[in-house]
Amino acid sequence: MKTQLTVIILGAGIGGVVTANVLAKKVGKTARIILIDKQKNHVFPPAFLHLMVGERKPQDVQKPLSLLKKKGIEVITDEVTKINHKEKTVKTAHHQFSYNYLVIALGAQMFPENIVGLSTGYNLYSFEDVEKLKVSLEKFTKGKIAIVISSLPFKCPAAPYEAAFLLDAYFAKKNLRQNIELSVFTPELLPMPSAGQHIGNLIKEMLQKRSINFYPQVKLQEVLGKTHKLVFSSREKYDFNLLLFIPPHQGATVIKEAGLGNETGFIPVDKYTLETIYPNVFAIGDANIILLSSGKPLPKAGVFAHAQAEVVADIIVCRIKDKKEAKIYDGKSSCFLETGFDKAGFASGNLYTESAPVMKMRNPSKIWYLSKMKFEKYWLWKWF
Ligand SMILES: Cc1cc2nc3c(=O)[nH]c(=O)nc-3n(C[C@H](O)[C@H](O)[C@H](O)COP(=O)(O)OP(=O)(O)OC[C@H]3O[C@@H](n4cnc5c(N)ncnc54)[C@H](O)[C@@H]3O)c2cc1C
Repeated sequence: MKTQLTVIILGAGIGGVVTANVLAKKVGKTARIILIDKQKNHVFPPAFLHLMVGERKPQDVQKPLSLLKKKGIEVITDEVTKINHKEKTVKTAHHQFSYNYLVIALGAQMFPENIVGLSTGYNLYSFEDVEKLKVSLEKFTKGKIAIVISSLPFKCPAAPYEAAFLLDAYFAKKNLRQNIELSVFTPELLPMPSAGQHIGNLIKEMLQKRSINFYPQVKLQEVLGKTHKLVFSSREKYDFNLLLFIPPHQGATVIKEAGLGNETGFIPVDKYTLETIYPNVFAIGDANIILLSSGKPLPKAGVFAHAQAEVVADIIVCRIKDKKEAKIYDGKSSCFLETGFDKAGFASGNLYTESAPVMKMRNPSKIWYLSKMKFEKYWLWKWF
């Protein structure tokens, strides 16, 4: 009798959920599909900014992972503690599994503790912090709001700028905008640098038109929580009343310990197949690192995690069925850029291209905004 093949997917974020779904549909009857995550629920981060301004409730942006069991996916709620690529095993706090194929979709881990005082502000990328931030914003009537990108790389290059635009609109609707100074601080030269100079300049102009201060090429060194001051490596200081931050990102600790990642814990992969140097071990989404021809890394975003998941699932299906592999990841991408007042822009292009502009942007309009809202609902319906 033929032994059943096992595919293990680590992480049930955007990439992991899509991989598990596609595999369950195509080879679920012949292979075991195991999806492991430490969280019981999948939370959809692109909706966090709407949570911040009170346009979503926490229950709108998450789904229980147990719903995936009806599709034949074995869902394990546990922390992954060890990956052994030589023995082809994965340990969690309470179990051990063997695999034939492994898909690592553990995302990026956030380390606010790496910058002294940073945690005195609100982590814009944390579900729990965003819920608390919403309450603080409701009481905020005047003063300085600082949105700080603490280091590179960070996921969703657009999100800090979208947060600034949404806050501009939020306070304008409350007729408080004139009392509030909004500023974005970043080590980048321009917003969204991997999307190309054209888009970076467009966003910079939009910030200027909306009276949002933009401080590029600044590196946060420390936050003096008691006196509400940001200290940059240039020794310049900035006073704030409310701090929203993007924490330092690195690869998951378990990846570093397994020796799969580079010095920052992100996993180098083949840019077309997403396979690591170990056969049948793949890394997708925020967990991997792919260098573009510009020398910059492929940005970390849900659209990439999703597209890479579909490719990896297809490759594994072909290998299980002994068929010729057809799909590759081609670097094409599109994303919405929310600009507040129920409008969004739409950027699209191919990040694997060598020619400029890498991406083009359609002007902010109500149509793109409504498309984004529909996409969010569709995504959570389609995969659960
Ligand atoms: C505020 C915000 C707005 C965003 N907006 C957009 C957007 O509009 N468009 C877009 O494309 N992207 C957006 N993103 C980025 C997007 O959410 C991420 O790039 C995407 O979720 C990455 O998918 P992933 O599957 O690689 O990792 P994740 O979705 O981060 O999933 C990783 C999973 O691994 C689990 N995990 C980690 N370590 C362990 C462990 N040791 N054991 C068990 N489980 C573990 C985690 O619990 C998590 O569920 C946004 C992100 C944020 C924070």
